[in-house]
Amino acid sequence: MSPESASGLPGFILLTCEHGGRDVPDSYKSLFRGQKEVLDSHRGYDIGALGVALRMASRLAVPIIFSTVTRLLVDLNRSDNAADVFSEFTRGLAADERERILATHYRPHRERVEQLVTAAIASGHRVLHLGVHSCTDELNGNVRDLDISLLFDEARGLEAELCDRFRAALQREAGGLRYPFNEPYRGADDGLTTTLRSRFAPEEYLGIEIEVRQGMVRRAAEQKAVGDLLAVSLRTGLGG
Ligand SMILES: [Zn+2]
Repeated sequence: MSPESASGLPGFILLTCEHGGRDVPDSYKSLFRGQKEVLDSHRGYDIGALGVALRMASRLAVPIIFSTVTRLLVDLNRSDNAADVFSEFTRGLAADERERILATHYRPHRERVEQLVTAAIASGHRVLHLGVHSCTDELNGNVRDLDISLLFDEARGLEAELCDRFRAALQREAGGLRYPFNEPYRGADDGLTTTLRSRFAPEEYLGIEIEVRQGMVRRAAEQKAVGDLLAVSLRTGLGG
């Protein structure tokens, strides 16, 4: 993408997908024996999210960093000391085994993202990081009142302003969908964007998460359509 204009909008866009698949590395297969059903469910990964993110990256011609290892091994969208960075399948492992999982399957992703953001800022860019996720349509009997939600830190004015523009563009492109802000989680909750906000100034780094309802993106054709909608709306929302 081109350097930012006088408007101060981001000049460098990076996509990530922390929960892109449900792969179990060979050395941990025994922990998940007989657990295909849970691995295939929304607990194992963000159904449809990687297809959406890859389509967006291709339409926008921007870099993407993603993982296809199940979040039940280690959750890339949690701090390394969070209670839920490990799941019930891995929490009980010995400390050195958990450390090995962090070193092999967690830190490389987080560090690659941080390094790319650092390099873009050093080149004089304002960075927009979009983390692409999906959420289950219904959790514990509660039907979620969203189709595509944008999550950001309400204390960061540039993020709020960008999400206003992004959502207005989404509404122009596909007015029949529901686009709440900060649902079903808050953008300032623990997560990769929150960690990066603690490292970079609000003028340097904007971290937005996109939550797509999984029922919308189960099939490849649906993932492409939602990826197109998001890419086109982001581009027009940014004014380019
Ligand atoms: Zn996710």
